[in-house]
Amino acid sequence: MKRKSTHIGINQNPMTIDDYQTLTKKVVDLLALYLRQSTSGDGVTLHQEPYLSLASQLSLTELIRSGGLNGDRAIEWVSSYLEHSQHMHHPHYMGHQVAIPHLSAGIADLIHGTINNPMAIYEMGPSAATIEHVVVNWMLSKIGWHDAPDLAMPPASAGGILTHGGSMANLTALLAARAAISPEAWQSGNPADLCVMGSDVAHYSIMRAISIMGLGAKALQTVKTDDREVLVVDDLYRAYRLAIDRGKTVMAVVANACATSTGLYDPVAEIGYFCREYDLWYHIDGAHGASALASSSTRHYMQGCELADSIIWDTHKMLQTSTLCAAVLFRDRRHMASAFDQKGSYLFHDKEQVGIDTMAYTIECTKSGLGTKLFWALAADGEEAMSDFVGGRYQLAHDFQELLAQQDDFEIFYKPEANILCFRYLPASTSNAAQLALRNKIVQRGKYYITSTEVAGRRYLRTVLINPHTTLDHLRGLIDEIRTSFSEM
Ligand SMILES: *Cc1c(COP(=O)(O)O)cnc(C)c1O
Repeated sequence: MKRKSTHIGINQNPMTIDDYQTLTKKVVDLLALYLRQSTSGDGVTLHQEPYLSLASQLSLTELIRSGGLNGDRAIEWVSSYLEHSQHMHHPHYMGHQVAIPHLSAGIADLIHGTINNPMAIYEMGPSAATIEHVVVNWMLSKIGWHDAPDLAMPPASAGGILTHGGSMANLTALLAARAAISPEAWQSGNPADLCVMGSDVAHYSIMRAISIMGLGAKALQTVKTDDREVLVVDDLYRAYRLAIDRGKTVMAVVANACATSTGLYDPVAEIGYFCREYDLWYHIDGAHGASALASSSTRHYMQGCELADSIIWDTHKMLQTSTLCAAVLFRDRRHMASAFDQKGSYLFHDKEQVGIDTMAYTIECTKSGLGTKLFWALAADGEEAMSDFVGGRYQLAHDFQELLAQQDDFEIFYKPEANILCFRYLPASTSNAAQLALRNKIVQRGKYYITSTEVAGRRYLRTVLINPHTTLDHLRGLIDEIRTSFSEM
């Protein structure tokens, strides 16, 4: 069959730049309305429709087939899309560890989405690449490591790289740890005796990294935790002896800073002293909790972190950047260079260059201009404002704990360190199933969004106070909402 050439691959009504400008302005108006409604605390945080009904309401297949997502239709469509979103800016959103983005940080996403500068090689985005270097150095300086402002590579200086998320960052750090102890592994595969020490409540991305690297999940030599799931320092010595007696070589020791479930920090400094004593690679998983370094009122939780060999730090959790932006940071940047012992001649050729190519240091090949979001979040109001934000959210969890302690019908089992708090509602029976059912009821009612988690085998309701709009009054409201939800079960 002969096809008319005019119909092949040619869009009859391509969007013009004028259309883009008009539509984008209207979308921004809609977003502003969405933000006003969400932050006012009216309406629901989340209304979940079954996905088939949502797919049809949003005309997804039809639009893909026939197009037409432009003009007024696009505006209607965006309204509907927003209505069916998780309303993160609503002060009753207190669920997962993901940032409510700083409004300025969203501008970085808009710019990136328009110009697309995948800057892993400098010439594909000099501004974004330079920004990455500067924000990474800002993070290194918060740790207390020496950065390298002039892009030179003085041997003892620290270094780091942004990655698409903390899971990727953890894997990168452990690859560097392996290269340090077993440089031949990249070529020849893992020696059979490698193990990693850490608690078995480390984030699952650590376990995944161990398995992805081919060490096998059994290569985790577990260190005991207490009843709050915090690593017991004294047990490091027992675990180490056990590993050695079993003929193992310890590749890395992993600290949780802080734990995803409770927000409690493993003893960062003590683990560091242990690692120094035995000359072991010390990795700190600070995906959530490294942001404590941004505030003078909270940075003591990370005290001693400068003893680490590698630290990961998500900015899309506590530093008000949209997903994704994480950093993997090394005390000695030479380890960063050895994590991937691979050459891609078209990328890594010797060239006269004015900037830095980061591709050699990441799992990703193409990479988004991640640092631009963090930069906007910091630069809009300055780093002092970020410090107030982090300090303020940590403080709110303390205040909430004190408030709950005054209620007879709630049980809390620890003093919070970060901005995460777990507790149980006692009238709901303390069985795991009952607490989970209560959480589901609360979410289904839509007024509040909270999560739940198991700690030492017991299920708790869980709040992450990450929203700048949430106040203690909203938390008083949550207490009422929990009681009402229970009474309606
Ligand atoms: C969130 C988290 C991770 C994973 O980070 P992603 O950015 O979600 O991939 C790893 N470790 C800890 C402790 C975390 O809280």
